Amino acid sequence: MKIELSKKLEKALNEQINMEISSAYIYYGMLTALKKTGAPGSIHWMANQAHEEMEHAEEFISFVQDMGGEVKLEAIEPVTSDYPTYLSVWEAGLKHEKEVSASILDKLALAIEDKNYVAEDFLRKYAREQAEEEKNFADVIALWKMAGDDAAAIFKVDSILGKRA
Ligand code: MG
Repeated sequence: MKIELSKKLEKALNEQINMEISSAYIYYGMLTALKKTGAPGSIHWMANQAHEEMEHAEEFISFVQDMGGEVKLEAIEPVTSDYPTYLSVWEAGLKHEKEVSASILDKLALAIEDKNYVAEDFLRKYAREQAEEEKNFADVIALWKMAGDDAAAIFKVDSILGKRA
């Protein structure tokens, strides 16, 4: 496949590659925090999340290359692994996913403006994926809020998170 990417779109897709790898890094920060708690379901959920972000990054890398573009891997920002509660982890995650959604929609708008229908198709898949990501985080936030400070309920929520495929 070789359909010309405009320089602007190539740059935008490279930014998204950085954002996907940065997302994985943010989730590794959360995973590091969760590993201190020893909660197996939460650890499992967040490890999957981090791995998925790396898969997204790899798909973007392949896409840019398949379209005849150049991939440039830029520096990744340091991340925190300091989260006071389970709830704060997923709240920070949802906030981050909303930023990712905005970024994906920007790139999609650019592909449409460029009349690059292949990139548009590729990015629409990610726009849908982002709707799912935001829902996943919001669902877990709802569970942690329900559990509150109740140890048995926290244990139950953690075991639900452990069932993530
Ligand atoms: Mg992603």
